[in-house]
This record gives sequence, C-alpha cells and structure tokens, in this order.
Amino acid sequence: MTDHTGVLQELVDGTWREPGSNTQYDIGIKNIVIRESLEGQEAQLIADLYQNKKITIVSDPFTHAAYGQRIFNALTKDNSNQVSEFVWQTAQCSDRGVAEVQAATKDAEVLIAVGSGTINDSVKYACFLDDKPYSVFATSPMNAFTTGTASVSFGGFKKSISCRGAEGIFFDLAILSACPPRLISAAFADVICRTTAQVDWLMSHILFDTFYTQTPYTLLAYDEPDMIANAERMLSGDTKALGMLTRISAIMGLGTRFNNTTHSGSMAEHQISHYIDMFAGDKHPKSSHGEQVGVATITMSHLHNHVLTNATPPVMKATHIPESYLLEKFGSDIGNNMIEQTKIKALTDASADALNQRFADEWDSIRTQLQAAMLPYDQLSSAMAAAGCQLTATDLELDTDFYLEAVQGARFIRDRFSMLDVIDDSVGLASVTDSLPL
Ligand SMILES: [Zn+2]
Repeated sequence: MTDHTGVLQELVDGTWREPGSNTQYDIGIKNIVIRESLEGQEAQLIADLYQNKKITIVSDPFTHAAYGQRIFNALTKDNSNQVSEFVWQTAQCSDRGVAEVQAATKDAEVLIAVGSGTINDSVKYACFLDDKPYSVFATSPMNAFTTGTASVSFGGFKKSISCRGAEGIFFDLAILSACPPRLISAAFADVICRTTAQVDWLMSHILFDTFYTQTPYTLLAYDEPDMIANAERMLSGDTKALGMLTRISAIMGLGTRFNNTTHSGSMAEHQISHYIDMFAGDKHPKSSHGEQVGVATITMSHLHNHVLTNATPPVMKATHIPESYLLEKFGSDIGNNMIEQTKIKALTDASADALNQRFADEWDSIRTQLQAAMLPYDQLSSAMAAAGCQLTATDLELDTDFYLEAVQGARFIRDRFSMLDVIDDSVGLASVTDSLPL
C-alpha cells in the first residue's frame, strides 16, 4: 500500500537532519502515518502504542459512519473487552462539550479520536485535563492534528489552549478523499498562508531582530511547489495530491514544535481571521478557520505586493493607538488587552526615525529578502482558486464593510508586527482598503 508519510517518518524517528546545520529534532510524536489505505492496519497501529489499556473511541455520528465503526470493529476483532466507543451525538468543542467527553470516557485510560476539527480538539483538551494519552484517526487533512494546541469555545469565546498533542496520528487517504470538499479547500488555504506568515515574521526579524527560524519553511518547501502545481487535483480524489496536502498540513502543524510559538504559520492573516471569529457576532457566516485564513491570505499578499514592489520605502511615523475607540468599541477587558498588545510593538518617534533611516539605506536589500519568501500574488490566487478556496469576503458571504473593519482592527489583537502595522503607521490602512479585492 503506497505510503505518503515522507519526511514525517524521519521527523518521528528523529533522524531528519536540517540541511546546513545538521540539527536533529525530537517532535514528541510517537507515530504519524499517511497511506493510501489503512484498512486492516488499524489494530496493529494502536497495539504498537497501547498494550492492555482500556480504550474508548470517540466519534460523532458522521465520522462514526465514515470511519469510526470500522475502527471499532478492527479494534474489537479479537473480542477484546478493553475497547468501547462513544458516539457523540451533540459534538461541539466548548467547555461544556469537553466536560461531556470527560464524563463519557471516565473509565478509559486512552482515547482514540476519529474525526476532524471538533472531535480532535475536544478529545485533545479532554485528555489534557484528565492526563490521558490520545491518538487520532483523521477524517480530513488539517494542521490541528499535529499541533499541541486546542481551540475551545468558553462561553462562546474561542480560546487557543496549549495542551499535549496526539501520540499517534493516522491518515487513510481513501477516507480523506471522501470528506466534504470544503474541508480540503480550507486545509489548502491554511497551509498556503505560509507565504504571508513568513513574510511578516521575517520582516519583524529583519526590522527588530525578533526571533525567527527557517526550519519549518525548509520542511514545507519539500512539498509546496508540487502542491501548488497540483492544486486542481486536490478535490478530484487524486491520492498523490491529497497525500501531499496531508503531509504539508501535518508539517505546518508541527511548526510550534520547532519554535515553541505559532509565528511560523500565524501572523496577520490569522489575526484577521481571529478578529472575524471574535467580533462578527450575528454577521459571522459560519465560515471555518481555514476558509477565513485563505481570504485574509489573499488580502495580506495583496498588501505585501503593494509595499514590497514599490522602489520607494514607506515613511514610518510613531504608532497612534486609538485607545478611547478601542475601549468604547470592545469594552475595557478586550480593549485594554488590545492596547497592551499594541504597545509592545508600537513605534515611538525615535524608533520610527530609526526605521526610516534603515529604509533609506537598505530598502532594496530588505524587500529583496522578503520577496524571496513571497509567492507572487497571481500564482497564489490562481492556485487557491484551483483548489476550490474562497478568495474574498463576498465568497465567504461575509459583510464586506465588516471585513474591512477586521483588516483595519486585526493589528490591535496581537503583539506580532506585520505589514498591517507598516501600512497603518505610514499611509494608514484606511487609504489602501479601496484597492483590496472584496
Ligand atoms: Zn491556521
């Protein structure tokens, strides 16, 4: 059976050596397997990790029908009474939902998640709270399987929580190819955002000497050109193309394991998506994380190209934080948090002058380094279109005025310095929003 695990096998084994430095890494995951089919191999994959343990398999009615039933049958084939299953009828990744999983699996020593975002994140967080190991059989490609964070909603407010990740992560491409196409497009968007995240993160490093590492990008570069070239095959059940997307999503999720931070795959494009999730309220079109990140990636790529193809550098000014607006609009808790986050990266008169001097001396060298990390806008947008991704707020069915508010407000929600800050502290974001594709 064709194996598509690729470089992930070397990362699991700890044998991958970073070109140049020869550094080896321990990614802290016991097994990752991507194969054309895992049929008949499930029981062995689990037995290799867990011997004589009480296991509960967690799925929802959809993932149970698609895959969970088959895994339960495989794991109970020898009449083991150590394995039970919990088909979660009302799956939702919230504080209450996670409590439901904890209650339903209290007798288990190990949980096996079968599903995608909701099931994986709920089980990940439940196992973190209960100090139990878990592994996952995926039903779609997605970064979140290999991350050590869970996105959980507390009282309707989504939080990203650091917790222990999965021990074993298993992808059966025949199962993945039957998942809803919009999950595949969203996964494509949530990895192609590498380009805008890298430009922002590298720019912050060049301008302010903040931490940066090339390692996740070295790994992503093994597959990214082919993934882009095969974008139109993602939705057609082509297992080679889907294997590539699955691998690159898994590598993207591993970013935090090399950096201890999510910066490598989460900069301004993610802040725009977070802003939508935090503040769209009734206007939220129920679009997913990856779909929103894709649209925001198009926006950021447009802004990167706008600034970096210009031979004349921006003229920076001290950051103006609209404190009373933020407090009035978002209330004192969130407003004050935004003010604090922005102060960390805010330019003073002196630091703005210093940047302007750097730009005067080195603009061509700075933009050449950043352009090397940047996919050309046309290539990015045509690959995303070919992979079925939404490209604009209109495609998301999101109110375009609200989207422009998100683009202008996103810089305040995190201390990460991005092109949104460069533009807002020079000509002002309001002056460029007219040109954005909506
Ligand atoms: Zn993401």
